[in-house]
Amino acid sequence: MNAIPTLPNYINGQWLTSSATEYLDVINPATSEILAKVPLSSASEVNQAAVAAATAFVSWRRTPATERVQYLFKLKNLLEEHFEDLARIITQECGKTLAESQGEMRRAIENVEVACGIPMMMQGTNLEDIARGIDEMMIRQPLGVAAVICPFNFPGMIPFWFLPYAIATGNTYIVKPSEKVPLTMQKIFQLIEKTGIPQGVVNLVNGAKEAVDAILEHPKIRAISFVGSTPVAKYIYSRGAANGKRMQCQGGAKNPIIVLPDADIEMTTRIAADSAFGCAGQRCLAASIAVTVGEARQTFSEAIAETAKKRVVGNGLEQGVEMGPVITTQSKTRIEGLIQQGLEEGANLLIDGRNPQITGYERGNFIRPTILQNVNPTGEIARTEIFGPVLSLIHLDSIDQAIALVNSGQYGNMACLFTSRGAAARKFRYEAEAGNIGINIGVAAPMAFFPFSGWKDSFFGDLHGQGNHAVEFFTQTKVIVERWPNDWSRQF
Ligand code: NAD
Repeated sequence: MNAIPTLPNYINGQWLTSSATEYLDVINPATSEILAKVPLSSASEVNQAAVAAATAFVSWRRTPATERVQYLFKLKNLLEEHFEDLARIITQECGKTLAESQGEMRRAIENVEVACGIPMMMQGTNLEDIARGIDEMMIRQPLGVAAVICPFNFPGMIPFWFLPYAIATGNTYIVKPSEKVPLTMQKIFQLIEKTGIPQGVVNLVNGAKEAVDAILEHPKIRAISFVGSTPVAKYIYSRGAANGKRMQCQGGAKNPIIVLPDADIEMTTRIAADSAFGCAGQRCLAASIAVTVGEARQTFSEAIAETAKKRVVGNGLEQGVEMGPVITTQSKTRIEGLIQQGLEEGANLLIDGRNPQITGYERGNFIRPTILQNVNPTGEIARTEIFGPVLSLIHLDSIDQAIALVNSGQYGNMACLFTSRGAAARKFRYEAEAGNIGINIGVAAPMAFFPFSGWKDSFFGDLHGQGNHAVEFFTQTKVIVERWPNDWSRQF
C-alpha cells in the first residue's frame, strides 16, 4: 500500500513541511479513500509567506509588464500539457465528472490568457492641457501583497479568477486553497515553479481558520479575494475591511430559473437538468428553484423528472458517469436533512434521490438527482442554499409574480429565464435582481473577460473577479498633474 502523502506549503520558492500540529485527511468523495493529509498551517507560516511576498514585490513591480506576462505564457503551456492530469486530480478530490473537471480547467486557462493582455489592460489615461501648459495623467500601480481564500467546489478554476491578474499587474500573491481539496493547487504550484517565476512572487499556504484569520490580520497583505459561503464571506469582508484591506468576497447562492409556457421544453429541460444536477449541484451557479409559469408546470415537470431519473450517477472518473458524489458525508447528511425539511413544509417528492446504492461505491457520498414539487415559495427550502443535486419546483401564474419571487431572495448570484419571446427576455434582464443573468442559458458563468458579477448576499465589495474588474482590484490609481515652466533660455 502507498504511504499517504503529507502536503507541503510553497513559500519563497521552497517546498516546506508545515509546522502545523493538526492535519486533516483529504478524502476522495466517491470512494472515501484518504488521498493525502493537509496541514492546518499556523499564523507564523502565513507570516513567512507574507514577508517573502513583500520582499519579492520590490523587484517584481519593477519588472516590465511585458516580462511579467512571459511567466503566464509559460504557465498557460504547462497547464495545457498537464490538462488531463489536472482534471483527474480535480475529480479525485472534488468528485465531479472528468468532463466537468476539464471544463473547469479550461476556464482557469482562459483567465491566464486574458491576463497576458495586461500590457494593454493596465494602461492608464492622460489629458494634455487640463489648464494652459499643465498635463494630467492617471497611472495604475500594483498594491503589494494580495491573497485569495478559496472554496472546495472549483479547486482549479477559482484561484485563477484572481491570481493571473494579481501577478500580471505586479503584485505578489498568496493562495490559501480549501482544506477539503488542496491537491489541485499542489500540482498547479509545481507547474508555477517550472515557469521559473522569481521566488516569493506566488506562495501557497494550506490551512483553514487559523491561516485565514492570520491573512485577515497581516499588516503586509493589502488586498484579499474570497469565494465561499455567505456567512464566511460576511465575516471575512468585515474583518478584512476593518483592518484597512481592499476586499472582494463572493458568497453563496440560491439561483432561480423561470420557465415560461413558450419555452422550448426539450432544450430547457436539458439545460435546466445540467444546471441543477451538474457538479452534483455544487456550483454557485446551479439552478436550485425552477419556477414554472402557466402550462409549463405540467410539461416541464414531466420532462425534468424523466431526465433526472436517467442521470447516471457514479465515480466521475468512469466513462458515461454524468454526476458524481457530494463533497463530504456531512454535506450529504445536511442535504438530506434539507430535503426532509422541504417535505415537512408541504412539498412532495417528484423524484427521491436519497440513499442510492451505487454498486462498487457504497462508501461514497452519493445522492441522486432529487426534485421537490409544490414547494412553498416562502418556506425555508425555497430560501436556503442547498448546494446539492436538489431542484425545487414552484408554480406561479405570471412572469411578474416569478420576477417578484426572484427579487425577494436574499441572494443575487444568477437568475435565468427560458422563453422564445424577446419582450419577455428583455423585461427579465431589465428587472431581475441578480448579477449574472441567463436567457435560455442554465449556468450563466461569465467568461474570463467579463466580471463574475454576484449581487446582494452573493457578493460583498465593489470590484468582482476576472477581466477588467480584477485589473482594477489589483491596482491603485495615481494621478499626476504636471507643469514644466517653459524657460528655454535656461536650458540651452
Ligand atoms: P466555506 O465558506 O465553508 O469555505 C471557504 C473558505 O473559507 C475555505 O478556504 C475555508 O478554509 C475558509 N473558512 C471556512 N470557515 C471559515 C471561518 N469560520 N473563518 C475563516 N475561514 C473560514 O465554503 P465552501 O463550503 O468551501 O464552498 C461552498 C460555498 O462557496 C457555497 O456557499 C457556494 O455558493 C460558494 N461559492 C460561491 C461562488 C461565487 O462565485 N459566488 C463560487 C463558488 C462557491
